[in-house]
Amino acid sequence: MRPQIEMIRLYIRMCQIPENRINKKVFLWDRNLALAGHRSWNKDVKSVFEKCDMLRIYENMPIMSKEKIKEVISTAKAKLMADYQEKWEKSVTEKTKLRTYMLVKPNMGVEEYVTKPIGHKKRSAFACMRMGVYPLRIETGRWRGKPLSERYCEQCNERTIECEHHFLLKCSKFNNQRDVMINKVIENFPGFTLYDDLEKLCYLLSDGYIETSKFIVSCEEYRI
Ligand SMILES: [Zn+2]
Repeated sequence: MRPQIEMIRLYIRMCQIPENRINKKVFLWDRNLALAGHRSWNKDVKSVFEKCDMLRIYENMPIMSKEKIKEVISTAKAKLMADYQEKWEKSVTEKTKLRTYMLVKPNMGVEEYVTKPIGHKKRSAFACMRMGVYPLRIETGRWRGKPLSERYCEQCNERTIECEHHFLLKCSKFNNQRDVMINKVIENFPGFTLYDDLEKLCYLLSDGYIETSKFIVSCEEYRI
């Protein structure tokens, strides 16, 4: 962001310089190159002004007071910062929302749970969990603008981020419900006990959908 602000600052400074000065002549020559569609410094600076919604300043080359220059610079800074933040938030959002889905997607070619008669409530809760949009703190914290590192679980006192992994496999508040789920899963698939946590999570969010969806719904009435 800083180089872009420096470009704006320099452009405005050049606008204030008398036309007979050599650096102004070079500047105007460069500007004419830009007007003719050639690559030039002026062409780059024009795109920065465009980003800041200040194309008129580029085009009109106004003579400005010191106060006005300060105001333009701070508006440009605010605009560039807001754009940067928006881009950053968008990429984080996309990444967090997709994290669970990407994790389990390769495990399951056909999304079997969509067609099995497990009931609307369970299917919907399971689908949300799988896609990373179930209202766990990792998601609700994002809605409220909390940094990822502060999206602690409010169900237990473990100061841990409440993500799908924590909720499905760790959160102590749901130990009883989890015992029921895990026992049933092992009954159907004894190899589950040999899995590490990541493999368990993948299993619960794919092949284990019947037990997982029951678990999610059975925890709902106890969630604060
Ligand atoms: Zn917890």
